[in-house]
Amino acid sequence: MRIAFAAAEVAPYAKVGGLADVAGSLPQALAALGHEVSVHLPLHRSIDRARFGIPDDGPSRSVPYGRARSRVSYPAIDREGVRTVFVRSDRRIGRDTVYGPVEVDAKRYGLFSRAVAEDLAASDRRPDVVHAHDWHSALLVSMVAGPYRRTLRGSATVFTIHNLAYQGKTSAEVLDLVGLPRRRVAVESRGELNPMARAIAAADVVSTVSDRYAREILTKEFGEGLEGLLARRRDDLYGIVNGIDVELFDPATDRHIAARYTAGDQSGKAACKAALQRELHLAVGERTPLFGVIGRLVEQKGIDILTPAAPEILATGAQVVVLGTGHPAYEATWRELAARFGGKLSLTLSFDAALAQRIYAGADLFLMPSRFEPCGLGQLISLRYGTIPVARAVGGLADTVRDAAADPRRGNGFSFREYTAAALVGAARRALAAYRHEAPWAALRERAMREDHSWAASATRYVEMYEAARASKRAA
Ligand code: ADP
Repeated sequence: MRIAFAAAEVAPYAKVGGLADVAGSLPQALAALGHEVSVHLPLHRSIDRARFGIPDDGPSRSVPYGRARSRVSYPAIDREGVRTVFVRSDRRIGRDTVYGPVEVDAKRYGLFSRAVAEDLAASDRRPDVVHAHDWHSALLVSMVAGPYRRTLRGSATVFTIHNLAYQGKTSAEVLDLVGLPRRRVAVESRGELNPMARAIAAADVVSTVSDRYAREILTKEFGEGLEGLLARRRDDLYGIVNGIDVELFDPATDRHIAARYTAGDQSGKAACKAALQRELHLAVGERTPLFGVIGRLVEQKGIDILTPAAPEILATGAQVVVLGTGHPAYEATWRELAARFGGKLSLTLSFDAALAQRIYAGADLFLMPSRFEPCGLGQLISLRYGTIPVARAVGGLADTVRDAAADPRRGNGFSFREYTAAALVGAARRALAAYRHEAPWAALRERAMREDHSWAASATRYVEMYEAARASKRAA
């Protein structure tokens, strides 16, 4: 099959969160299964062209944009069997950050989507499947199903929801810019455009990144106002759990960490922990339990239960290491906490992929108290590094973290259901109690490290879903 991805962020070129991990590793897994895969992403200013050998320019096209036209070029490279195309318009698409104000992004990504549609339509290798990700490339689905339906008549559309909370709601005027009809979908109010809702309505199949989240989003609690629309697409809605790039995240070969280790020989992990404690100015102690937190400091990640829970977790004698960026108010609160608990709580307010890997390797436990979580990658990367997750049983976390107390033989972490600081502290305490027993803890860690979270299984499920999308398109 020929499969064309479009996404706002793709690792390693540009990464803000999990979408980049997926768009940067699933295509390679599909290529390894013998499919022909391309990925389009915007050429953001932050992308280091020299480092990745991205040419200045490629073929260029004049893309209709409102009443005018916009010159877009398509520099491209091949990486691990995947053609990666950087959609370049310094004036209208390239910005310093991947995401900015939604009104600006709606136009940028609207033009991006149209530029991708134009590129695919002009290609002599038109895709069998166009796979768009999140709201930023959602209008591509409307385009393939609408104005480009003749040129791209052989292309089925798949839309994947990585996070339903971001829908890209903006003014319907953007539709005029990108050449789509004004006709509203049910959830839009007058004058409003909801790109994500349109893609959900128009795609041949819709998917999200875990089985549990696929069911949760049909409810009012998690549906973000789109539960009715999603319920209508229930028969075409898939939940496929994310994998991780097991070559990038591999404690046996990771060059960013102090010592290498494997499931069979975990001795290097203690060196990673000591190095991390030294680096972050924490007291060095091999038996002092160390919790890691990596992620956006936003409500979704459970920051409002983590904040009151942190002093209680620190009171047990444990250390906590936090790496993240996010809402200024949360950052300020955490700065105060870090000042209060110097030497025990370390806070790094930046995006730092190498430090993230040192934390995944050096921590004993990983906290993920999300309010909602489409899939979550932190817990999967932690497991790979033998760092035991303490997570709320929601979305993808519920699908991937099994409580070791409830299921001693298969458990790989600790989980709690209620969204409260008390429930989180309770789970952390159970984890700490288990941590004190060295031999069973080492066995738990070994089991965690031996789990397979590579893309192999999920990539096969994506292929099945692509087949279903093509069948559904033919039937329509
Ligand atoms: P999100 O909702 O942000 O997509 P995920 O758990 O799916 O959450 O993915 C987050 C990804 O981004 C993980 O690979 C995580 O390690 C990484 N990450 C998040 N914040 C940071 C940070 N401040 N520095 C480095 N990596 C980060």
